[in-house]
Amino acid sequence: MTTIVSMTDEKNKGNKSIVSDLLSSLILKAVARKEKTLLFLNKKRESGQFYCKTCRFHEFMPDAPQICPNCQSHDFFFNSLNIWSLAKTVKQLVPNANVNLIAEGLRYPTSDIRRPAIDIATASVFYKLIAYKYDLVAHILADTTLNIADFSALEKTFAQITNLKNLTKENGRFILQTYAQDHPVIKAAAQGNFQAYYAQSLSARKSLLYPPYALLVKLSIKGKSPEIIEKKAEKLIEDFSHFPLSTFHFPLSILGPYQPIFKTKVPTYNIILKHKLASYSISEKEKAIKNLSPYLEKISRDWQITVEPGSIN
Ligand SMILES: [Zn+2]
Repeated sequence: MTTIVSMTDEKNKGNKSIVSDLLSSLILKAVARKEKTLLFLNKKRESGQFYCKTCRFHEFMPDAPQICPNCQSHDFFFNSLNIWSLAKTVKQLVPNANVNLIAEGLRYPTSDIRRPAIDIATASVFYKLIAYKYDLVAHILADTTLNIADFSALEKTFAQITNLKNLTKENGRFILQTYAQDHPVIKAAAQGNFQAYYAQSLSARKSLLYPPYALLVKLSIKGKSPEIIEKKAEKLIEDFSHFPLSTFHFPLSILGPYQPIFKTKVPTYNIILKHKLASYSISEKEKAIKNLSPYLEKISRDWQITVEPGSIN
């Protein structure tokens, strides 16, 4: 059985925890019955969950801001959110439970089988060979991937939810906590409705001009000094602007320069060239590449060029 829990409602009724009241009661029940629980949170690194009580703006941010970036209100809260803070919350709820962390770079826990196990995992759980399914599975925040400004966001969200459902026993409970309870992709994933997801995903890609409706070329520049690479990126955009688009007669739009949403170790700036495609065929793509060649010739060697990137991040 799958249940979508609105975290907006949860916050508005005064529960500031990252665990909803329903999930708390189900965890307690599972522990009492010595059942297996999996809590999934796709975040290992420290970051926080921002929620404004005035305008209900919700976002993930690396640090707490001074004021709400949406309405300038001071009336907000900021919870740091990662697998360790989740483990702390769970241990407060059930001090006697055997809480295991499953994440990249952590040793796989050897569970104490005498105690009911609660596994807290990042996406690395999908790559482990786990010999059992869980009685209770909860996606702590199903919209963490949805908020990423990337064309692959819907696909990641759908895939994560589907993978988690597959780790749930047939008669088990699956809880989807989310701030986007009405999002069609969350709903489609909860119902296991691939057709609905596919239609939604295609129409989003069409309106934003992403593949298969466009050919993307990602230009990335990396360097020690963010100021220097930012200047280089802006210079390239300026060079591009000297091309009289009207003489080329092809549908091109340019995004950026912007820094990746997920901060990289080495400072990086990206620029995206989007060439609209009449159809997603090899000949159309070749035509687009040919159209783009005067642009690509302008690019110096310190840039990395990726045709059809898997992500714009
Ligand atoms: Zn606000």
